[in-house]
Parts: sequence; structure tokens; C-alpha cells
Amino acid sequence: MNAMTQETKQTLLYIAIAFAFSVAVRLIWYYQFSGYEPFMFNSQFMINTNDGYYFAEGARDILSGVNQENDLSPITMAASRLTALFAFILPFSFETVIFFMPVVLSSLVVIPIILIARSLGDLEMGLVAALLASIAHSYYNRTMIGYFDTDMLNIVLPMFLLWSIILAIRTNEDKYLLVMAFDILLYRWWYPQSYSLEFAFFGLILFYTLIWERKNLYNYKLLAIMMFAMVGLDEYLRFLIVMVVFALYKQKKFEKYVYALLGIAVVLFFASGGFKPIWYLLKIYVFKDAVMAGDLGLKLHFYAVMQTVREAGHIPFETFASRISGHVVTFLVSVAGFVYLTYKHKVMLFGLPLIGLGFLAYAGGLRFTIYAVPVLAFGAAFLITQTAQFMPTPRLKFLAPLLLTILALVPNIIHIQNYKVPTVFQADEVKVLEKLKAEAKREDYVVAWWDYGYPIRYYSDVKTLVDGGKHDGDVNFPVSFMLTNPPEVAAKMARLDVEYTEMRYKRTKEDKNLTLLSNIEEMTKAYGFSDTNDFLYSLQTETTLPEKTRDVYFYLPVRMSDIYPTVEMFSNIDLMSGEMKKRSFFYTTKSFKQDGNKINLDQGIVFDLQSTTVMIGTQKASVKRFVQTAYDKNMKLTKNIQMANPEGEMSVVYMSNYGTFLVLDEKTYNSLYIQLAVLEEYDKMLFEEVVLAPQAKVYKLKI
Ligand code: MN
Repeated sequence: MNAMTQETKQTLLYIAIAFAFSVAVRLIWYYQFSGYEPFMFNSQFMINTNDGYYFAEGARDILSGVNQENDLSPITMAASRLTALFAFILPFSFETVIFFMPVVLSSLVVIPIILIARSLGDLEMGLVAALLASIAHSYYNRTMIGYFDTDMLNIVLPMFLLWSIILAIRTNEDKYLLVMAFDILLYRWWYPQSYSLEFAFFGLILFYTLIWERKNLYNYKLLAIMMFAMVGLDEYLRFLIVMVVFALYKQKKFEKYVYALLGIAVVLFFASGGFKPIWYLLKIYVFKDAVMAGDLGLKLHFYAVMQTVREAGHIPFETFASRISGHVVTFLVSVAGFVYLTYKHKVMLFGLPLIGLGFLAYAGGLRFTIYAVPVLAFGAAFLITQTAQFMPTPRLKFLAPLLLTILALVPNIIHIQNYKVPTVFQADEVKVLEKLKAEAKREDYVVAWWDYGYPIRYYSDVKTLVDGGKHDGDVNFPVSFMLTNPPEVAAKMARLDVEYTEMRYKRTKEDKNLTLLSNIEEMTKAYGFSDTNDFLYSLQTETTLPEKTRDVYFYLPVRMSDIYPTVEMFSNIDLMSGEMKKRSFFYTTKSFKQDGNKINLDQGIVFDLQSTTVMIGTQKASVKRFVQTAYDKNMKLTKNIQMANPEGEMSVVYMSNYGTFLVLDEKTYNSLYIQLAVLEEYDKMLFEEVVLAPQAKVYKLKI
């Protein structure tokens, strides 16, 4: 241990400082909410990202050894496996592990940053860049405490890749060939979409080699082993190939075959479909290809999630810049600094793919900004540490960079202090799901909007029709239809969609080449219709339902009222023509003021008690009924329905315990969601109550 150089000691010290800083800043949220029970479950905070429940479900199933077919639980995904491993070996609860994993893993990003700086001979720059990158706005948002998602390593792994590439190019040492290849294997294992970034790195190394180091055989070795690590084969096979190639490199006599190896690698890459995922991404992001095509048969038109997302549109430059660096000024300094740094050290060019991916955010796709964070942090850090050169005294040489670093950090820390994101679920909602778990069997289905899919599966261990990853227009349609149509037809659709979903798994398992149409189209055909509208209409009459193979539950949270209009969009479309139908009227507000006989419901909507009408802007509509709901002291819902005008178009509902007013047209009022979740009004032949809590209601389907 005597050989540890001064530089190594300093490197370790800087890594320790930056790592501790990154962790400490991520604990701000923890102390802000300390003791806040609504965010807790099993005496730990719950996570604050929906997708996290997906990996949590997978990890839970790995640990318990329960493996159901077609439950969509990701037991083979890297994030689930790593989580299961941590939960297994660490002395903490499962909830604690998933809550803190992002804090620890994402903070590892400081290591490659400082190591890259060390290789450039500027450790101080590394420390400053690590401090800034580890907590910069968008990187923080996507790796904060409780943000349990693949993001926790999605920047760490490519930064290690960048480090190994820079070290390989600078030193031409063999070991970096292996480190680089292993990093690709690991990165791909963790995040299969890493393809395009790896490909961009490959292209850049090729470019670099052809321009500046055409005669350097080492670079071709690097390219070949990199491509072998990237080919579209099974990860164990790729590992084996990489080891064999490395062994060949170690033999001097194989040197003349390096170009041939590179050729083989490229051919293998294309032959194994390596380019396909890149092509697919280009199609979506660059050519903006329409993702939703119709079905093969009736050419049905579904409403695509992309349509709701696309409306988010363009982000302003200021948002974009502060997400990457914390502040527009820091961002501009970072860009200038990066250009200067690249001029001084050509190898920093290899950071371009990360910056490029980050800048894709500007074209729409806010989530990409995090890729640009660490590389641009080098830019700011370089300029900050360079200022020391212009300072006359040693004291100032230390103080000037320190002050500038603090200035760069402050906007990010202010952002973090104000970024008080709630957990995905509240303790009361989880209690409902725990009761559901006690009642439902693993193979039962729960009908709920896709936003609640993963958490429901995690807390209740059931199956769902849609979730955070399965929510295309065709699968959303039946669920949207159930929630926004009358309970009688919704009940039938629930049985149909659940049984058709299971039949689909069965049939595609028996016949791998079978391509089934959407459930709704399969139903249309099976019931002898050639027009889906006719089939849907027929649900209002006597319908022979498929045989019941399992129970179906409805999970109806109160909070769904915030997204009801979006939920409705997915089924408010004529599937045959693709035309959107006239939107139903749904208005909810917590901000209202009574003024004599008039209740001002905000947004230009006024409820007149005297004339029982609602003014909606300049339009006057008569009110059919006024409903007031309240919970009595036993927490049973009571309701008072006053009929006003039998011919009225609107209903006004006042949910007194929630302090919420609803203004609904007749279709919305009669929807399953309003009838079952808001009014607890249901046909006992069709539904049975399971949990009726103020936060959420659960019903069991009886047909
Ligand atoms: Mn399960």
C-alpha cells in the first residue's frame, strides 16, 4: 500500500467529497418530508416515479420466486435483478432499498467525471464538474431520492464508457479495450435502448481514427472489439466473443488480422439486426413517422398516446438551458468552456454523442437533457478552474474558483429545495390496494387507467389490462370505454376485454406466427359484425359473454377525476372513420365562491341556484339535477339528489368532503366512473363493493 501516489490519494479524496456532496443534496427531500405519514408505507417513504413500480414488481417476484405467465412482471430485466440482489444482501427493508438506490447509484457519476479529468491532468476541474453534474437540475430530477428508475445508471454507464474510450485513445493500453467492451455489455444489459448512443460513439471513434490516427492499429482493435460487444446477440455470447477477441489481440501474430476482425464485426452487426433499433429510433424521432397504423383487418383508427404527448410541443430555450446547467448563464459558459476544452484536449470530442442526445431534447423530448449534463459540466468547470491562472496571489487562486463553483451550484440547489415532488401514491390509497390484495387472487384482473397499472400490480399483486408500458390506443380503448360509458355496457366490456386478453396470450403461445388483431376487432369479428360501431352498440342489448375464467375488479381513485377528459379521448373516437366525436362536458373545481343565489365555479362557470342553470362562458344550460355527497360519521357516503329540470343538459355535483364541484353532461353523469366512484350507485347484479374508501373505490364484477 506504500505505492499510492499523491495523485491517487487526491483522486480518491475528490471522489469521496463529490460523492458525499451528491448524496447529501439528495437527502434534502428526505428531511423536508421527514415524518410525513401520507407519503409513507411500511415505515418508509414511497417512491415518486410511476415506472419504478414496474421494476419493484419484478424484484419482488424474483425474491419471492413467484413466476406467473403473462403477468407482465419484469423478472428478467436488469433493474429488477439488481434491485433483488441489493434487497437480498443488504440489511434494509425492500421499501428502503428501492427508495435509496437512486441516491447511491446516480452519485457514482462523479467517478468517471473525476477519472476523465485526471487523465487530462486537471483534477480540480474534475471535482468542480462532478459537483455540478451530480446535482444539476435535470440530472437531479431524474435521479433524486425515490426516483427509482433505470435513470439511476443511465448516465453513469455511458460516462464510464466515455472514460474508457478517452483512456483507450490516450494511452493505447490493452486493458482499456476490455474495460470499454465490458462497459458496453453492462450498459446494454441495464438499458437495451443504449444502442443508438453506443453506435454514435463508434461512429465518432471511426471518424477520429480516419482523420487523425489512420495508421494506428490500436484504434482498429478498439473499433472491432467495440462492435463485437454491440452486435445483436445474447449477452453471454457477446461476452464470450469479446474474451476471445481480446485473447487474439494478445497474440502478436494476429495483428495482421485486425482489419478482417473489424470487417467480420461489422457484417455480424448488420446480420444480427444490429441496425434495426437505430433505424426504428430514427423513424420515430427524426422522420416523425406515424406510430399508430390501423389494424390489418378493418383498419381501425385508435387514439395514440403520442398525440397527447406531442401536444407538449417545443420547450423554451431557457428551460432547456437551465435543465442542463441550472441557469442560462452557466449553460452558455459551459458551451463556451466545452469548445475551449476540446480545443485544448481533442479527446473531449468523444463527449459529443452525449451532448447531441441531450440537445435532442430541444427538438421535443425533455427527458433527454440529462445526457448533456455531465459533459457540459466539464465546460463550466474548465473555465472556472482556469480563472485561477489569472489570480495574483495563492489565496485568490483558491478563492476565485471556489466562489465561481458556488455560484454555479446555487441555482441548482435552489431548484432542489423547491422541487418537492409528491410520492406517486398516498398512504390511504395504498391501504385500499392492500385490502384489494387480500381479496383478489394473483390471476385476477384489475381494471384501471394505465397511470395506476404498475402501482396496482406492485401493491395488490394482480394483473392489469394497461400500464405505464402497455398503453397504445388499441389497448387503452376498451379501458377508456369501460370508465366513461354506462356501467351496464362497461361491465360487459370488462368481461370481454379480460377474457380476450387472456385468450390472446394463449393463442399466440400455441401459434407463434399468429398475428392477432386488436381485442376490439377480434370481438367485432367474433360477434359477427363488420362494423365496430355496430358491435359496440350491440352491447346495449342482450350479449352472450365469454366464459368467466377469473375475477375482475375496478379500481376507481378519486384523483382520476383530474384526468377524466383525457381518459375519455381514447374511446371518444369513431374507430371506423378515425373521427373524434364531440367531447363530453366534464368540469371539476375546488375553487368556488357563493354569492347569494349564485355559486361562482371559476373559469367563467356560474351555477345559479335560483333558476337552476349553469352559465358556461356565454352559454346558458339548464341543470337536470343537483347532487350533494357527504360522508357520515361512519364514513358512509350519503347523497342528496334534487331533480331540477327533467329536460336539463347538465348535472351539478358537490362533493362536500372533498370541497369539489363537478359540472357534467348526461353522458358523463351516467358513466361508470361517476356512478361508481362518485355516487356509489350501482346495479347489484353487475357489481359488488369491495372497498369504499374516500380516496378510492374498488368493485368486483359479478358477470
Ligand atoms: Mn403477479
